[in-house]
Amino acid sequence: MNHASSKLMVRPGKKVDLARIDPGDTHGMHKQACAEHLAKNIERLSLLQYLLYAEGRRSLLVVLQGIDAGGKDGTIKHVMSGLNPQGVRVTPFKVPEGAEKRHDYLWRVHNAVPEWGQIGIFNRSHYEDVLVVRVHRLVPKEVWSQRYRQINDFEQMLSESGVRIVKFLLYISKEEQAKRFRLRLREKTKNWKFSPADLKEREYWDSYIDAYNDMLRQCSTPHAPWYVIPANHKWFRNLAVSKILVETLQDMKLEYPKPAADLSKIRFE
Ligand code: ADP
Repeated sequence: MNHASSKLMVRPGKKVDLARIDPGDTHGMHKQACAEHLAKNIERLSLLQYLLYAEGRRSLLVVLQGIDAGGKDGTIKHVMSGLNPQGVRVTPFKVPEGAEKRHDYLWRVHNAVPEWGQIGIFNRSHYEDVLVVRVHRLVPKEVWSQRYRQINDFEQMLSESGVRIVKFLLYISKEEQAKRFRLRLREKTKNWKFSPADLKEREYWDSYIDAYNDMLRQCSTPHAPWYVIPANHKWFRNLAVSKILVETLQDMKLEYPKPAADLSKIRFE
């Protein structure tokens, strides 16, 4: 997995063609060997989160995107299972309503950016405004096409302010999506997850792929890289995301703050 994580990163400015990426890829890893690695990464994440909180000067923002049934919820459940809930906030982004509709599209997003010491997880994000909005022509092209630049500027501002950003596209095949939808129809405990609207959305598969390709090419930057995670195999998806999160937090070179006083001089009964 060591070299695999950097292979999954979209090089800034590089043209991306998802058709050339295999969503079933496991980079030579085997399921049997992975449980132990995942457990280790979850433990490391817990320690790094503690350090992030102790330092209290920066935060981590994790953006999750993916087609319906792509595994966003499962990733959060499994990869984040070792984190201290006090230091994590998950924000889902749905169809804008109320005050959200009466502001610019980044207003609700900025409001959910994690405060110093915290980890923020976006379950969908501002990228919906160049994905679903583009695919369904909810605004004219002149409007959505400016958003790549606006998003890059916004993320650069966040990064320069102390927010470390890492973005994951969970990439499954059309067949895998069908398999997961069928399971939702078949299994009583999963029926609630099925929405006929998801089937309608499936008809726009190719338009979504085009929109993802553009998003990846235009918005993977040195300060906020995109990673494409082959996500047909849930175990590989979890392992890859956990590994990249560990590496990202390690790269922040987090440090404990200096004690407020010379602790060696403190005496008490
Ligand atoms: P999820 O699929 O994330 O579990 P929902 O089934 O409630 O949750 O789906 C949320 C929906 O909100 C998705 O269809 C998504 O495309 C849509 N959405 C999110 N942000 C926007 C936006 N800015 N404009 C329009 N639709 C959006």
